[in-house]
Amino acid sequence: MNAKNRLVVISAPSGAGKTSLCAKLLANIPNLVLSISSTTRAPRGTEKHGVEYEFLTREDFQAKIQAGRFAEWAEVHGNYYGTSKDTIGRAFQAGNSVLLDIDVQGAKLIRQAYPSESVLIFVQPPSIEELEKRLRGRGTESEENIQKRMKNARDELAEMDSFDHVIMNDEFERAAFELEAIVRQSMGVTYA
Ligand code: 5GP
Repeated sequence: MNAKNRLVVISAPSGAGKTSLCAKLLANIPNLVLSISSTTRAPRGTEKHGVEYEFLTREDFQAKIQAGRFAEWAEVHGNYYGTSKDTIGRAFQAGNSVLLDIDVQGAKLIRQAYPSESVLIFVQPPSIEELEKRLRGRGTESEENIQKRMKNARDELAEMDSFDHVIMNDEFERAAFELEAIVRQSMGVTYA
């Protein structure tokens, strides 16, 4: 079977372990590339422009919205985040599927814009307490940001039923295996 171009959308509250799951997925599945989003958030730690995000000023981000260059965009934790139409177009043209690590609002917008290509997956943390522990353990966020992210997490968890798949990340290896199986099946890619 030929691989199908898919938009694999993964959403999860901050601290649910989504980044590690995405990294493993990208390493294991050929023809799946990560979409680098644009954001107005300031770079954290060693983050670099063009690697983790395209870091933009609010003015530049707004100009990009006006020019219709986003497939979706949303305000998350007080900053703008968006997926460029170009990123998706280029990947599809090269015969790749795209992994989108975006929030719940963005996931729904992608489904509306690309109903037959998108697969929506929600990564569920074992509990809200565990989530807060992981978020604090990172040591990168201020107390205000932690509170903002925890409120957002509760709002996002309330929406997980609208996703095509929900993966419980209580045990990393099992969750990663489950995720890979879902994505391979949606892309029509068998195990090597
Ligand atoms: P962080 O600031 O921790 O990198 O990301 C915060 C949240 O923004 C995460 O839930 C992440 O998935 C989401 N996000 C990242 N890029 C995008 C995007 O392009 N669009 C949307 N809607 N959300 C995004």
